[in-house]
Amino acid sequence: MTDTTTLNDTRARPLRDLRISVTDRCNFRCTYCMPKEVFGRDFHFLPAGEILSFEEIARLARIFAELGVRKVRLTGGEPLLRRDLTTLIAMLAEIEGIEDLTLTTNGSLLAKLAPALKSAGLARLTVSLDSLDDAVFRAMNDVDFPVQRVLDGIDAAAEAGLGPVKINVVVKRGINEESILPLAAYFRGSGHIVRFIEYMDVGTTNGWRLDDVVTAAEIARAIDAAYPIEPVAASYRGEVANRYRYKDGRGEFGIIASVTQPFCGDCTRARLSSEGQLYTCLFAARGHDLRALLRDGASNADIARFIADIWRVRDDRYSELRTAQTVDVPKVEMSHIGG
Ligand code: SAM
Repeated sequence: MTDTTTLNDTRARPLRDLRISVTDRCNFRCTYCMPKEVFGRDFHFLPAGEILSFEEIARLARIFAELGVRKVRLTGGEPLLRRDLTTLIAMLAEIEGIEDLTLTTNGSLLAKLAPALKSAGLARLTVSLDSLDDAVFRAMNDVDFPVQRVLDGIDAAAEAGLGPVKINVVVKRGINEESILPLAAYFRGSGHIVRFIEYMDVGTTNGWRLDDVVTAAEIARAIDAAYPIEPVAASYRGEVANRYRYKDGRGEFGIIASVTQPFCGDCTRARLSSEGQLYTCLFAARGHDLRALLRDGASNADIARFIADIWRVRDDRYSELRTAQTVDVPKVEMSHIGG
């Protein structure tokens, strides 16, 4: 077994979280993530044989757990599109050391799948929902998907015991700023936790501009004016959202300020793409090929050493270095490695 006591990167950040993308496909074409002009009919998604099998993913997750990972999040593409995902969840739920198993979804298939996800061993989940206004929501997902079905999915998740649900809202200027207050109002007092996210320059296909970012300060000010709020201390090192509570006691929400208040200093996340590339940053240009090791007969010890060697030299802190000039630097797409 590998000695994990010293597995810190060059900035003393331990390896604690693993985000696993189980597919590069999605049934939405959110304009800020998988714009139709790029991810259209002619786009080549990965063929089945290139994607890691459940056995391969579980084997890697076991190795990551030995290296210190305590939290695993399944993502994509849209993770609920991966056939028999519950089989993988059951495999991951059994791994010693993994204390938190969760998933990020667009919620489109949740109404149907929530009970099975819970019985397989999923602890909780995050649903992405950018607006309650049906027209705005349909325009943002760009496949005309109605908002009510996502709301039904959130209810089904809560009924199945997967709550409190986290609701991710990416805010893009001129597109869904008007949705901030209705979302805050709808989920206040529900027990679910909305997290507003500053629009990020992930990938290179979404045409990001700094002007499109509605800042955390603006979001907090808008909510405070309608429902007075106060900040809450972070509950653990590396928590990405700044937390606020409503002064009238009707719960809390978060703001993920990755653009205006980068949190690279506390980033303990590694990311595994669906074809088995390891990325040490959401904004990385290249990954490290774990699939080749798996398929070339490497032992668990070999793979653990390979990962540990990568982690020890990790010095990524893209968001702290972001400038208008870094926007065009080549970066992996969010849909490829997940959020
Ligand atoms: N399909 C799933 C979903 O919709 O939640 C999982 C994958 S999606 C890439 C994960 C998260 O990334 C979503 O909450 C999405 O809104 C967020 N996201 C995608 N592009 C983003 C961007 N440019 N800036 C901020 N968040 C983004």
